[in-house]
Amino acid sequence: MQKLESLREYLETPKKIVITTHFKPDADALGSSLGLGNYLKKKGHQVNLISPSDYPEFLNWMEGESEVINYEARKKKKSQKLIQEADIIFCLDFNCLNRINELGELVRVAPALKVLIDHHLDPEQFADFELWSTNAAATAELVYELIIRFNDRQYIDQSIAECLYAGIMTDTGQFKHPNTTKNIHLVTADLIELGADIAKVGRYIYDNNSLDRLKFTGYALSQKLKVLKNLRTAYFWISADDLKKFNSKTGDTEGLVNYALSLKDVVFSAVIIERPEAVRLSLRSKGGFSVNDFARDHFSGGGHPNAAGGVSDKGLEETVADFERIVKQYEKQLNRNFKKTNKHEY
Ligand code: 5GP
Ligand code: MN
Repeated sequence: MQKLESLREYLETPKKIVITTHFKPDADALGSSLGLGNYLKKKGHQVNLISPSDYPEFLNWMEGESEVINYEARKKKKSQKLIQEADIIFCLDFNCLNRINELGELVRVAPALKVLIDHHLDPEQFADFELWSTNAAATAELVYELIIRFNDRQYIDQSIAECLYAGIMTDTGQFKHPNTTKNIHLVTADLIELGADIAKVGRYIYDNNSLDRLKFTGYALSQKLKVLKNLRTAYFWISADDLKKFNSKTGDTEGLVNYALSLKDVVFSAVIIERPEAVRLSLRSKGGFSVNDFARDHFSGGGHPNAAGGVSDKGLEETVADFERIVKQYEKQLNRNFKKTNKHEY
């Protein structure tokens, strides 16, 4: 693993750069990527951002968003050429190459220098440089750190500050998850100092619902939420038909999992959802119950201790049955965790 100092030296002359991030990018994935990309452009580099898929419309306000290449949307040839010809490929907010689907193999075999900037557990070893820390609340925090370590704070303008702030605000659950450190508040304060309009970013991300999305949430809460009281667990199960009925768009189910976790007797929540490619699981927990371990051990996934995701190769009903059966095995652990969490012992 090379030192970041030599990356700084390498970046002293203009380079062809590709930035990529995980499938269905969220605000941290896209915000950290655009924040980094806009900074590198200002430094004189040629930068292209390739997303493996589309992303929620409520991220469209980010500076540079209109130039993001969506690999899935008929841009494969162009993306392949850019990756093959890049001097450097930055991989942001994901820990293993299968999180970028087909792009993963292209990145793996590309001759470029590879840089991983990430805060997920258990990263795959594929990069020449890593800026990786699970203590970071968001990948955006690490991008900020990179720019500061390169002595380039003066390059952070309002739009870069807002992209980075969006990642921090969402990945900390609006500054309430246990990853909300003193440092993240200091970084946020500096981003405000550098011009971030945090009320604007908050409005764009949280007050941008379509009526369909709001009604879908109401429907899910009233019809599709199951509480397993003895297991301190609650989950939603959502079929492709449910999504169709409410014209669901990318991002419309984001945050649903938090409603289940907000129940006072619950320490583990899930959304199990039938997507075109597979049934996907989104998992959250309070306290010491590791959803990263749960996702890794049972659903080929991962993430963070309190927020993770995974996938199933079975249908929706079977996955739901599997989920219930597996959770049952954790009954003691979940109840112990519930007691500790109530005493604020993590
Ligand atoms: P979400 O539930 O919001 O989709 O994802 C929660 C966290 O888990 C995010 O940090 C996300 O990057 C990660 N994650 C989601 N799905 C997967 C997966 O299939 N594999 C891995 N390794 N991480 C995932
Ligand atoms: Mn993140």
